[in-house]
Amino acid sequence: MQRGTERQTKQKQAIYEVLCSLDHPSATEVYERIRTQFPTISRGTVFRVLGGFAESGKIRKLQLADTDDRYDPTLASHYHARCRGCGRVIDVVSPQAEAVLRGVRVGGFTVDGAEVEFFGLCDDCKKTQEEA
Ligand SMILES: [Zn+2]
Ligand SMILES: [Zn+2]
Repeated sequence: MQRGTERQTKQKQAIYEVLCSLDHPSATEVYERIRTQFPTISRGTVFRVLGGFAESGKIRKLQLADTDDRYDPTLASHYHARCRGCGRVIDVVSPQAEAVLRGVRVGGFTVDGAEVEFFGLCDDCKKTQEEA
């Protein structure tokens, strides 16, 4: 019993580390990576651990349009931009966006937060497009 708990703690720690080493990965991406360390770990365990982290506020779960949920260990206020070319998710820390999206009054309603997803092209994809 004791042993099992210890292994679970190790796995949880490793899942968190993998999450931090990847860039806004989906649960599947975390699973594929963690399997190289823990070959017997199940997909269900990885999904459950990530879900638990998100529920307890240790990480953020991002529900983006037209893609699997992604996980983000950065809790500080920021928004996300998704590249139309490669699908990569980039952090947007923008005081301008913050100013627009918080404290705005629209028709008898005061906005105090927003889930925003920006779209565009990352520098790599922009370069590829310009060269093509
Ligand atoms: Zn791109
Ligand atoms: Zn992020």
